[in-house]
Amino acid sequence: MDVDCLVIGGGVAGCALGWRLRRAGMRVLVLELRDAWGKQKLCGGILGVSSLSELVASFGRGAFGELALVRPPHHRFRCLGKETVSRCTYATVLRKRLDDWLLARYVETGGEVRDRMRVLALDQRARVVSCRDLRTGARCEFSYGTLVGADGALSVVRRLATGEPQSAVMALEGMVRCTCEDIVFAYDPKKRGYCWYIPSGVDANVGCMSYGDDATQCRAWLSSFCEDMGIALPVLRGAPIPTGEDILLRADEHIFLAGDAAGLASPIDGGGIHFALASARMLAASLLGEDPYEEAMQPVVEKLADKAAKRDEIYLLNSLLIAGSGKALESE
Ligand SMILES: Cc1cc2nc3c(=O)[nH]c(=O)nc-3n(C[C@H](O)[C@H](O)[C@H](O)COP(=O)(O)OP(=O)(O)OC[C@H]3O[C@@H](n4cnc5c(N)ncnc54)[C@H](O)[C@@H]3O)c2cc1C
Repeated sequence: MDVDCLVIGGGVAGCALGWRLRRAGMRVLVLELRDAWGKQKLCGGILGVSSLSELVASFGRGAFGELALVRPPHHRFRCLGKETVSRCTYATVLRKRLDDWLLARYVETGGEVRDRMRVLALDQRARVVSCRDLRTGARCEFSYGTLVGADGALSVVRRLATGEPQSAVMALEGMVRCTCEDIVFAYDPKKRGYCWYIPSGVDANVGCMSYGDDATQCRAWLSSFCEDMGIALPVLRGAPIPTGEDILLRADEHIFLAGDAAGLASPIDGGGIHFALASARMLAASLLGEDPYEEAMQPVVEKLADKAAKRDEIYLLNSLLIAGSGKALESE
């Protein structure tokens, strides 16, 4: 099969990009590893001001109602035994709802998705991707004009195109019944990470990520956080989050990376929905003849690199702010 743009990964970046390119009349194919409609991405579902602006700018205000966004009243920041409370500026969404909604927008444009496809090999010279159809076991080949790796953290496209693995930290998370309407973040400057409780309606997401600790230590930390919150530790799953330290937007003349695959995540809290939407928008514009992708993304890349370099300082400052009953720094 021969397409203008072959997108690997039908998550936020992949569907948002496919939606834009299809509307401009390009022949697009999205290949997804999991069940396109059955996937359950691990995610807190926090949408900051930048993510909300991206959604409105692309899909209009109607998106908010369709996504059934929740507005938690407060933010509770905990650190070293202190807690500060401030008005919450975030909205939250059930991540599966967001993913299914974006996929529906792409499919509405006539965009095609082939799911349960495992990428096996990439021939950069011939511009061919070989895959295994996990349903039938058949091997298939796809020729592309442009290839986009939107396959998340630890991107296979990125590894095959560059030979280098992507840097990532493992986050742990699970779902509980909602017992508190506020978002709660518990920071630890030494662990350079945080535990979270994020309500999104009937359910809430709890999790932990750390740039300093391993998964076993994260589990123990999350367990004591849940105890503090008066909730039982749920069944936990792990997922990689880019560290934001090795951003790569382009692997060769015809291969681009977007969202987590490009390493575009906050080096402080791992948030990446905004970057997935923004990179999809700028990459689509570039493929349609507007500003080159790398040039358009330059300010974002510089900002993330700066934050990654100052990670320890920011965690320390956050803890001082919380302890001094100030407000913690927000990532966006
Ligand atoms: C535990 C956790 C909590 C988070 N909480 C938040 C939050 O509250 N707010 C926020 O803004 N961000 C959050 N993030 C980050 C956010 O989820 C990501 O930054 C965002 O999903 C990136 O979108 P993406 O499209 O690049 O990747 P993804 O959403 O991961 O999509 C990648 C897609 O590619 C598919 N795929 C993977 N490998 C292959 C392959 N080889 N072939 C084909 N398809 C493949 C996947 O199944 C998936 O559908 C969180 C992340 C984690 C892990």
